[in-house]
Amino acid sequence: MSLITLTLVLTFLVAVRYLLIAGVFYLLFYFLKIERLQKLKIEKANPKLKIIKREIYWSLGTSIIFGFLGAVVFKAWQNGQTLIYFNESRYGWVYLFCSIGVAMFIHDSYFYWMHRIVHHPKLFPLIHRVHHDSNPPTPWAAFSFHWSESILEALIFPVLVFVLPLHIGAVLFMLVFMTITSVINHLGYETYPKWLRESKIGKYFISATHHQTHHSEFNSNYGLYFNYWDRWMKTQSKKSY
Ligand SMILES: [Zn+2]
Ligand SMILES: [Zn+2]
Repeated sequence: MSLITLTLVLTFLVAVRYLLIAGVFYLLFYFLKIERLQKLKIEKANPKLKIIKREIYWSLGTSIIFGFLGAVVFKAWQNGQTLIYFNESRYGWVYLFCSIGVAMFIHDSYFYWMHRIVHHPKLFPLIHRVHHDSNPPTPWAAFSFHWSESILEALIFPVLVFVLPLHIGAVLFMLVFMTITSVINHLGYETYPKWLRESKIGKYFISATHHQTHHSEFNSNYGLYFNYWDRWMKTQSKKSY
């Protein structure tokens, strides 16, 4: 399959993954407006239809970038150039689970610093403003990035598969997990129960409230999956959540 055909196929799959996951959350929380879910809303303001359309527009654009980089990785894998493996007994189950944790930590660290850099006043209007136009965000904002930011967001993935042996299942799990958590963090509703967010382990995970605070405050809560870096670099918001 040529690189162009592969890009088209993967763009389609990435777009379907986005539309399905964001669509289910939008249906439950915004369209059907299920009564008992409404008390979980973080801010009273409702997003305008214009904003939602823009979020979908930019997210579908991101799907093309992700599709292209995915196609490049696929070609590299076909040529035996990546460290992606299929037989779980090759490194064992312990390694397989640990590799997911390591990959997520690397991704989170990369995202934190890349995110702080694109908040530089000179870079922000060129790269990151599109994403912050969503305030408050909706689940459709999950991949709402300017194309230049989409490239930066996705670059860590090809790097990861060249430096860290990852089982194909771990790769697919991360791709779906990344999409679900991005949709949840932009949902506009806090779905994680308070006891979990305040628990010993749960307090280190990023929630919708945490990320929505970033969308409104701009200069705090930069993390992706965990708030270690926000805590270490003292960029954690003073707001309680
Ligand atoms: Zn965001
Ligand atoms: Zn930001």
